[in-house]
Amino acid sequence: MANYCVQTKNLTYSFSGKEAILKNINLEVEEGCIYGFLGPNGAGKTTTLRLLLGLLKKQHGSIAVFGQSFEKNRLEILKRTGSLIESPSLYGHLTADENLLLLQKIYQCPKERIRKVLELVGLTQTGKKKVSQFSLGMKQRLSIAVAILNSPSLLVLDEPTNGLDPNGIIEMRELLKHINRHQGVTILVSSHLLTEIEKLVTHVGVIHKGSLLFQGTLAELQSKQLQQSVLAFETGNDVMALRIIRDNELSATIDNGRIVMEMMEKEKVAFVNEQLVNNGVSVYSISITKNDLETIFINLTNN
Ligand code: ATP
Repeated sequence: MANYCVQTKNLTYSFSGKEAILKNINLEVEEGCIYGFLGPNGAGKTTTLRLLLGLLKKQHGSIAVFGQSFEKNRLEILKRTGSLIESPSLYGHLTADENLLLLQKIYQCPKERIRKVLELVGLTQTGKKKVSQFSLGMKQRLSIAVAILNSPSLLVLDEPTNGLDPNGIIEMRELLKHINRHQGVTILVSSHLLTEIEKLVTHVGVIHKGSLLFQGTLAELQSKQLQQSVLAFETGNDVMALRIIRDNELSATIDNGRIVMEMMEKEKVAFVNEQLVNNGVSVYSISITKNDLETIFINLTNN
């Protein structure tokens, strides 16, 4: 049986007694994984993460972290958890070093950790530069340094790539992978974009309107996504192409100047292509259009 770093059972939450924002969330984050918590704006990601960090008081259900009840071992669990949630709390008038020094004193962790985490996040060269003069990417990396200063076993990050440019997103991804692999830290990271985290995560939970619609490995989600993909043929004569395909007892439609068909095995794709070409229809391109996350959400909800 898998060892869970975070496990919630029927976690349910509502703000001021109104309709539930979270409905029976059963989160299972395996130890050592990078878990992507995906959902559109307002789905309930931040609320879930705040509950896991004790920033909101749990109402129904249970939360276990490192195999222990959160309620009963709150401080011990939080000591082993690093987090970045909402805006990072950095002092703009201090340098990176000084910001970390303050926290090192609070945590009472070894002073060498400061150099170590600055190296990890690539901020050893900032010297006397004040944090207020940092770029957003640098601030974000410093916030990660703060989160890992106390050598946590679990890192909880709420949309850490928000506002970053494509380069910053790649840097953040590499940094988190490094921390996971080399420091053995389990990472729970939220995002509203599958494309932004699919090169990072090993596991995925999809939340929509407060319900967990899917939970599993990234490969499982991708295979669902592929099953729901469509094939598009760009041809020289769509009307004729449609007739040929239908003559072969296959179904297709014309959409946006392309012949669109349900996903099928590659041998069948080759067969359709052959039929079109042999009957004088030019085929300019064959492509797979993957459903975006929004469509997957809708399909998951309908199922
Ligand atoms: P986002 O990416 O936009 O932050 P999210 O998935 O993190 O989205 P949450 O912030 O958890 O979503 O919000 C879930 C729902 O709870 C939303 O409908 C939001 O309006 C509502 N909500 C959040 N905080 C409060 C609050 N303090 N009081 C009342 N409702 C709230």
